[in-house]
Amino acid sequence: MSPVYVMGACIMSDDIDRANDYAQILTDAALSVRKPSGPAVTGYCLNCDKQVDAPRRWCDADCRDTWERKL
Ligand SMILES: [Zn+2]
Repeated sequence: MSPVYVMGACIMSDDIDRANDYAQILTDAALSVRKPSGPAVTGYCLNCDKQVDAPRRWCDADCRDTWERKL
């Protein structure tokens, strides 16, 4: 047996005895990591570190676009 890694969680293959179970685990894992909104709000522009008011993550659209292109 070998470990199965699903979205960062390790699941032993013993625990998966049917394909449907595996599909359900994948679905659960995908739902559990879904965040309501992208990157964390730090109070500072994620691109240029200028202070911004929460819940903003960038000081302007240009910084957001630049940051997204760096991903
Ligand atoms: Zn900025």
